[in-house]
Amino acid sequence: MSKTLSRIGLGIMRWPDTLSKKHHDMIEYSIGNGLNYFEACRFYNNWKCEENLKTLLKPYSRDSYFLCDKMSLRGDFEKEKNPEKYLQEQLDKCNTDYFDYYLLQYACRDTWNIVQQEKLVDFLYEKKRQGILRNIGFSFHDNEEWLRKFLDISDWDCVQLQLNYLDWFINNHATLYVILDDKNIPAFVMGGLKGGVLTKGLPSAAVKYLYEQDEEKPIGNWGMEFLAALPNVHMVLSGATELWELRNNMAIMLEQQPKILNLEVYEKVSDIYAKSEQLPCTGCGYCERDCPIKKPISVIFGLYNILLNEYNDVDKSTFLEIQMNPKYGMLNCTHCGKCNKNCPQKINVEHKLQQIALNYR
Ligand code: SF4
Ligand code: SF4
Repeated sequence: MSKTLSRIGLGIMRWPDTLSKKHHDMIEYSIGNGLNYFEACRFYNNWKCEENLKTLLKPYSRDSYFLCDKMSLRGDFEKEKNPEKYLQEQLDKCNTDYFDYYLLQYACRDTWNIVQQEKLVDFLYEKKRQGILRNIGFSFHDNEEWLRKFLDISDWDCVQLQLNYLDWFINNHATLYVILDDKNIPAFVMGGLKGGVLTKGLPSAAVKYLYEQDEEKPIGNWGMEFLAALPNVHMVLSGATELWELRNNMAIMLEQQPKILNLEVYEKVSDIYAKSEQLPCTGCGYCERDCPIKKPISVIFGLYNILLNEYNDVDKSTFLEIQMNPKYGMLNCTHCGKCNKNCPQKINVEHKLQQIALNYR
């Protein structure tokens, strides 16, 4: 059966390791209503992501959806450096003999050497030739210069970028988008709502301003509408954890006629955000993966950002409870720096944790 890639996909990064009926319902809603791209990555859902997707997609025929998996250039791959074994394990866990899309995850200056030394591009091409990988690409976390370098080493079928209106205006990700557009390489989007910042983490002044523009429109819709209007955005990964969020995202991305944007509004919100003290944390949890004390960094940063906004009703006691828990205290921190190394947003995590610990005791 031939099918067309839907402009929205589902990434289950923030789902728990144990599935419930809600998750099956979300998959059923997705497939029944035009979303056909699903993304796995071995260490999501506490290392259960691939098996979870296998379970969730079991009722549907393999040719009715696109399945993506990723080779993480950090962590366990770095230790073993055995792409053949890595890929085979992924195929086995997903109970499939091919991936529709396969991405090198975390392409940036820090992972350039491993891609070269392990000849990963040759490996991907060979697997593509064998029909095991149908489309190949990479997810990218660096600047223009490094994007060009990665693009030059192969003919890629897609590139996954962190694209949202804040990064577009503040961090010049517009340039990254334009480079892909010029080369006719489809842009896939991750962090389209900046890990929920664009739905519930904007500074209060920005929220007020957006409601002044349209009091009916949910705040997150501004973010999705921005992406829907970019013609070279071929797929936006939704990280929805609730059915209503997914419905909202799908309704916008699957709309035939994208909205005409008022860019001034987006620039103004980006300006307010840039002047705020908020951390650009997307809650991805990569920093926690190798942390020897298993500090819940994404939770701390998420609550910290919410605390900066007086309009948000955060449970301050939860925040303080984590802060005061001796298990996670700065005294237990080994200063190994692994959190810094793993953060795609380049936050100096360790330093920021120390600052927060000093300010909120
Ligand atoms: S520096 Fe501290 S917080 Fe960061 S990974 Fe190491 S132990 Fe964890
Ligand atoms: S600090 Fe960085 S790695 Fe950790 S959750 Fe936030 S964005 Fe992700």
